[in-house]
Amino acid sequence: MARPRGRDELAATVVAAAEAGSTVAVAGSGHSFTEAAMTSGTMIDVGALSGVIDADPTTGLVRVGAGTVLADLNEELHRLGLAMENLGDIDRQTVAGAISTGTHGTGAKLRNISAQIEEIELVSADGGIHELGPGGRSELLRAARVGIGALGAISAVTLRCVPAFTLRRVDAPLPREEVLDTFQERADSNDHFELFTFPYADSALVLERNRTAEPPRPRGRLAAYLNDIVLENWALEALSAAGKRFPGTIPRLTRLAARLASGGRTIDRSYRAFASERRVRFTEMEYAIPRERAAEALEREIHTRALGGTQGHERLQRDIDGARLERTRPGADDLPVDRDRVRQEHAALRAKPARERRRHQRRAIGIGHGVLVVGGQQVRSMACC
Ligand SMILES: Cc1cc2nc3c(=O)[nH]c(=O)nc-3n(C[C@H](O)[C@H](O)[C@H](O)COP(=O)(O)OP(=O)(O)OC[C@H]3O[C@@H](n4cnc5c(N)ncnc54)[C@H](O)[C@@H]3O)c2cc1C
Repeated sequence: MARPRGRDELAATVVAAAEAGSTVAVAGSGHSFTEAAMTSGTMIDVGALSGVIDADPTTGLVRVGAGTVLADLNEELHRLGLAMENLGDIDRQTVAGAISTGTHGTGAKLRNISAQIEEIELVSADGGIHELGPGGRSELLRAARVGIGALGAISAVTLRCVPAFTLRRVDAPLPREEVLDTFQERADSNDHFELFTFPYADSALVLERNRTAEPPRPRGRLAAYLNDIVLENWALEALSAAGKRFPGTIPRLTRLAARLASGGRTIDRSYRAFASERRVRFTEMEYAIPRERAAEALEREIHTRALGGTQGHERLQRDIDGARLERTRPGADDLPVDRDRVRQEHAALRAKPARERRRHQRRAIGIGHGVLVVGGQQVRSMACC
């Protein structure tokens, strides 16, 4: 593990690792759901390269160290009268980690965080330091923006910020069918729209955030603590643990989670209205699908999850096969799913004794999150899987 204290030390670390025949990975906050930041070679922590290096409030261009954590960045930007145009669900990531993975928020008219980058300072494998900007070879900037750490170590980035703004956030539990019927209108008429659904329950928790000229009126500390920590974290963790221990209770637990998902409204600084407090460890998977297929995709996902365990997997396999055969000639499609392998795995599972199948099913059960990114909107399904 190397912790360089500046850009030149970072470059020297990369060169030293190369000379020693070691691979290198730069880690941010380690919040990726995959092992993208892992390495058996030298892991570089750029935490010391953090904070605002230079800022021009007139143009909104702000240069920051790659290891700057978004939560700290947001506060610093606010002091400068600036803000990030869009943000994701949490603010614990580093700016380099967030752009390297295409971290996104919501909003049909807004792009992901990497699109708010004007320039990247990148240390390449030979220790060279490159300024990648919009002029000249701008394709290098495009490639480096979502480079997943593969193109080099980012030491600093210049962000294109906007004047600080306020968001009105309204969370409301609504009938799922009603939300899906009005999905397109809601996506178009709100600056930010997302929803959580619950299999075994007919409701959805809808989150809508819109810019407002009204002054911030944040929730009281106690109300925020009860909702954000007690309900959204402790209660979820307890339900999750109970569902894992007693899988038969999952439908009831999910319905309870749906009832606990309460509404609320607040007007707050943009970055506070974007970020949530997430203390429960979970994994998440994202699918990118066309917006007009949102309702269908969601219903199918919920249906598959509601079937649970191995049955759910088989149903999903049939869905995947069905979609492939409907749309394409066999052999002509390029979906990254190896149908034969999926079939073999399911045949092998079916051939196992019932006890072993049940163990597999139990391992597959838990409360997790699925995210469908639909035309720029996040549709989250907090579900038993
Ligand atoms: C609770 C939770 C909620 C989340 N919500 C969202 C969401 O709303 N939207 C969304 O899109 N994502 C979301 N994510 C995913 C998260 O934003 C990304 O995984 C992000 O990459 C994490 O940033 P990090 O600093 O932890 O990066 P890491 O996980 O440490 O690294 C991610 C990748 O970036 C590379 N990297 C990091 N720093 C550098 C650098 N200096 N130079 C070169 N490469 C580098 C790493 O090598 C790795 O490949 C969420 C994750 C969690 C845990």
